[in-house]
Amino acid sequence: MKTRRKPDWLKIQLPKGDDYAYINGIVKENGLHTICSSGKCPNVGECWGNGTATFMILGNICTRACKFCNVPTGKPLEADWKEPKRLARSIKLMSLKHAVITSVDRDDLEDGGSGIWAETIKSIKETTPEITLEVLIPDFNGKEEDIQRVIDMNPEVISHNLETVRRLSHEVRSKAKYDLSLEVLKQIADSGIVAKSGIMLGLGEKEEEIYQVMDDLIKVGVRVMTIGQYLQPTKNHLEVQEYITPEVFKKYETVGLEKGFAFIESSPLVRSSYHAERHVNAINLK
Ligand code: SF4
Ligand code: SF4
Repeated sequence: MKTRRKPDWLKIQLPKGDDYAYINGIVKENGLHTICSSGKCPNVGECWGNGTATFMILGNICTRACKFCNVPTGKPLEADWKEPKRLARSIKLMSLKHAVITSVDRDDLEDGGSGIWAETIKSIKETTPEITLEVLIPDFNGKEEDIQRVIDMNPEVISHNLETVRRLSHEVRSKAKYDLSLEVLKQIADSGIVAKSGIMLGLGEKEEEIYQVMDDLIKVGVRVMTIGQYLQPTKNHLEVQEYITPEVFKKYETVGLEKGFAFIESSPLVRSSYHAERHVNAINLK
């Protein structure tokens, strides 16, 4: 049944607990950015309480302006080459077993920020060798050498989100293109690293369009997919067209697994990095 009133299953757990307070303190002291807080993620209580967080590098101002995203748009600050070591030290202090790193888009930088990306992965692996890493990368405007710079650092999982179905891509994402994103994912999958992607539902997509996304992802070698409910961060962002029920999310998970994904995380509160530590296991399934 379709409804546009925010349903009960989207009620969230408020951030609390010692682990949450500890991570919050380190994030603030070190001038770090997390997508958990800037993205107003509904899972922050659960994830930070369990010692998992998603860090955003290359500043907190994006050169793009996707209509679903709460990250500010504008002229970013100069690239900060001290950030990789600062983040690596902080992650060690937090004793995380698995970390997710993402970034704003830096279309203003010659290398799209891929140099700082590579340095960040290298620093974290040097400082905390036992950690597993997922990196959620931008499209780097499809520049293969920039994407390769990240691949060469050998993180366990590389993700790049399609965010929505082909028909809605232009409206939902700022400069990104559906086919370009598929090419980025193909380059990742061809490298042998686990490739992951995700979409949000509730933006007006149709069921058959979701299955088409699944087929397109499988075709380029993506093995892990996340599917979650889009939530409007402010009144200035795209409106929610529909709240999808947990039962329908479950159906998409079943269909996706039948189509050949190794992992599908599909439920209303799923975000790209939700339960990300589980997706590392997909390595063993390749
Ligand atoms: Fe952070 Fe991801 Fe958890 Fe949200 S789902 S709180 S972004 S780690
Ligand atoms: Fe947000 Fe789009 Fe920038 Fe990513 S590229 S941080 S989704 S505005």
